[in-house]
Formats: sequence, C-alpha cells, structure tokens
Amino acid sequence: MRIGIDIGGSHIGVGLINNGKILNLKEKVLTREDRSNIKSNIITIILELLNQTIEESKVNLKQIEFIGIASPGTISNNKIAQATNLGLINFDLIAELQKYINLPMQIKNDSKCAALAEKYYGNMKKYDDCIFLCLGTGIGGAAFLNGEMLVPKKFSGFEFGHMVINKGGRQCNCGKRGCFETYASIRAFKNKIAEVLDIDNDFSGQYMRENLLDYNNPKILEVATQFVEDLSVGICNLIDLFEPEIIVLGGSFSYYKDNKIYKMLKEKIAEKTSRFNKVEPPKIEVAKLKNEAGIVGATIRI
Ligand SMILES: [Zn+2]
Repeated sequence: MRIGIDIGGSHIGVGLINNGKILNLKEKVLTREDRSNIKSNIITIILELLNQTIEESKVNLKQIEFIGIASPGTISNNKIAQATNLGLINFDLIAELQKYINLPMQIKNDSKCAALAEKYYGNMKKYDDCIFLCLGTGIGGAAFLNGEMLVPKKFSGFEFGHMVINKGGRQCNCGKRGCFETYASIRAFKNKIAEVLDIDNDFSGQYMRENLLDYNNPKILEVATQFVEDLSVGICNLIDLFEPEIIVLGGSFSYYKDNKIYKMLKEKIAEKTSRFNKVEPPKIEVAKLKNEAGIVGATIRI
C-alpha cells in the first residue's frame, strides 16, 4: 500500500492507495490562516491527515511502502522549486516530512501525476503516444512517446499552458503575454462567462456547467465558440509537434463529456485547416479519473 498526498491551491488531501484505488481519503480546505505560514502549516496538516487516514484504515506505517506527493508548480530534484499559488520557493517538503516519517518519498508536478494516473489506469492505458492536458485554473500536461512519459532532467517541463498563442496578448501570471492558459483554461472561460453575464465570477465550475452555459443565449455561444477556437489552437500545436494517438483532457474539463463544448472542440480539431497533417486527427477524450487523478498518480513511481 502507498500513501498519496495531493497539494492543491485550496486544499490538501492524503489518501491510502492500493493499485490505483483510493481506500481512504482525508482532506482539509486551506484557510487564510493556514496559508499565512504555509511552510510549517503544510507539514502539520499533512501529518494530521496522514495519522487520521492510517488510523481509520487500521494499518500502520510499516505496511506503507512509499509516499508520493502531487504539488502544483515547478519541481526540480524532488523539491518544490516554485509554487506561485502557494507562495513556496525552493522548499524541500520531503526533507521536512522525513523528520517525522521514515519512508521513501517522491514529489511530482500535479498535472504530471494526473497524466500518469490516466496512463496507468485511465483512457490512455491502451496507447503508446499520448498527450494529457489538465484544464483548470491554468493548463498543465505531459507527453508520452512509446509508452514512456517524457521527463526532462532539469525542471518539470511540458508547460503547455505557457506556450504563446497570441503574441503580445493577455498578461499571464508567469510574466509572459498571450500564454495558452490565459485564453483556454477553465478559469479563463469562467471569467469570460461572468463578464458577458455581468455577474461575479465566484461561482463553482459545477454551477457554471449546470446553470450558466445556455448556448441558446448568443452571448454565451460567442464566448464558447471563442474558447473552443483558442483551445483548439493549442491542442493542434501539440498534435503537430507530437502526433499523439490520443489526447486526454483532464482537470475540470473531465466533467465536460456531455457538454456541447466537447463536441464543438472535436469538430474544430477535425477541420483540415486546423492541423499540418490532413489525415484523421487523434482521438480526443476526457479523463476517466477526474478529481482522483492527482492523488492516484502521485503514488506511481517513475
Ligand atoms: Zn504564462
């Protein structure tokens, strides 16, 4: 059995995982107070959740072979090099945790974890050449060729969200302008929906899908069409670069399978003017593991 730790911008989850299945999961939403002294609080929260998980599951630490951590931001040498949303820079989370727990640990970027989960247990399982795109507050991802995830030596890499699709365009958090994620993340879509409806953007993704995306409203249809165009530009760049057999869209987009946008996107990608090669496009799928992908993928050793 393994322990997975999922560090999000707004919550921390600790789960007991066996063969890709979550046996027990404990979560805590991060308060403003938690975030104010994140370096020490993150350790306390993880240890508390870990104790609760193993106590409730009636296992002891000796039965745990490995702890895997999914973290936002850039990971380098098993450390958090930079996690802007959490305000962490050069933070050796593993060294801090190993003061209390003597187990092997590995930390990976959260989108890479979700990608691995999808490759081992989800919709990319049957394919060798795959692209995983995680669409949420930003856009992350990973690429697999010949069945192996491509992993650079230096940093996490594959920052698909920060390829520029509009030179001099919208300002991105990363400091550049016109990044893919400033146009095609779910957050960017949500902000545009809020703007045309003239409402605050503090609604949830689920609320938006269920109540706001009325495509009979021409304003909504226009935003959706633009979003699909921007998303397809980035996806088609990736198709031309990697020629994957399948592209899986995860993060919040996992919940768009029955939404008109998913159909619109597939049609746009299929257009001959969208891609370099005029043959059939790769399969486009939504992720199977949804919210669980990060914590399950954290426990896959690479
Ligand atoms: Zn950027």
